[in-house]
Amino acid sequence: MGRVYNFSAGPAVLPEEVLKEAADEMLDYRGSGMSVMEMSHRSKVFDTIIKEAEQDLRDLLNIPDNYRVLFLQGGASTQFAMIPMNLMKNKVADYIVTGQWAKKAYKEASKYGKANCIASSEDKTFSYIPDCSDLPVSDDADYVYICENNTIYGTKFKELPNTKGKILVSDVSSCFLSEPMDISKYGLVYGGVQKNIGPAGVVIAIIREDLITDDVLPETPTMLQYKIHADSDSLYNTPPCYGIYICGKVFKWLKKMGGLEVMKAKNEEKAKILYDYLDGSSLFKGTVVKEDRSLMNVPFVTGDAELDAKFVAEAKAAGFENLKGHRSVGGMRASIYNAMPKEGVEKLVEFMREFEKKNL
Ligand SMILES: *Cc1c(COP(=O)(O)O)cnc(C)c1O
Repeated sequence: MGRVYNFSAGPAVLPEEVLKEAADEMLDYRGSGMSVMEMSHRSKVFDTIIKEAEQDLRDLLNIPDNYRVLFLQGGASTQFAMIPMNLMKNKVADYIVTGQWAKKAYKEASKYGKANCIASSEDKTFSYIPDCSDLPVSDDADYVYICENNTIYGTKFKELPNTKGKILVSDVSSCFLSEPMDISKYGLVYGGVQKNIGPAGVVIAIIREDLITDDVLPETPTMLQYKIHADSDSLYNTPPCYGIYICGKVFKWLKKMGGLEVMKAKNEEKAKILYDYLDGSSLFKGTVVKEDRSLMNVPFVTGDAELDAKFVAEAKAAGFENLKGHRSVGGMRASIYNAMPKEGVEKLVEFMREFEKKNL
């Protein structure tokens, strides 16, 4: 069987070119006589892999010199604890709750200090981004936290919140490298890579240097201190070597594609094909307020759970995989990350048109 069009929210589609290259190098990485999976993380060969990965990521995002790039483990969810443990100096932080991931982060932070929910869109099933231009940011807040692209609900912050001078912390797991971003506006940006960059397990944190200190909450585990990882250039212990290697390949692929401005244009073009169809369809409709629509995750419904299930089943049979919506929302969701070709979206829309004709 050939490759399918994989609309999974994560782990998700990766560039075929990258997978083929990794396959070619599986048994013998560039004359080393071994797989990257088998080599020492202290070897010269791996040192080149991780350093190049960092430099390529820096180039792609124009990361300023006063930010560190850390390759960590434990997925995005471990950051829900690591962030308050390291950054809650006053033991106060403000959270903007725009979906389940933000809510989980907020709840986790409550274990370590006073986490305030200063805005939420839960009243309308997280189908929009609240107005964040003048929020009641706490005077003593150590940071303001957002989940920038809400993977489950398909919303995205098009404008960053006004944090009134407080540090902004952002979970960008599902929009990482989908478009350029101004890192200097954040104290900490992080993301699990399995949505748009690489294999699950790796999490990349981009953190402003002055926020990396020994002044962390008492009893913070060694492995959960940013400083430990920063001081040893992400090699304090054995990092997820193979995952980092794949991420590095994806960074090179993105550079070859022309960088993040080009990816943004491609992603806008792809998303428009799907949203335009949804806006004109008499059967399917999008579930998100137009202004806040994500370029990466597109949820939609027919309004009839049985028909939704029929669509998902027929789509699967036709080679469109993982279109079922998140278990908490139902309906459908098409995740159209960087590596989803435009052709995949066009074919999906073609298939939806046919389904609409037959089922209206
Ligand atoms: C998937 C996801 C997470 C959780 O990632 P894990 O690596 O499974 O912990 C957190 N935040 C967002 C926005 C996500 O999409």
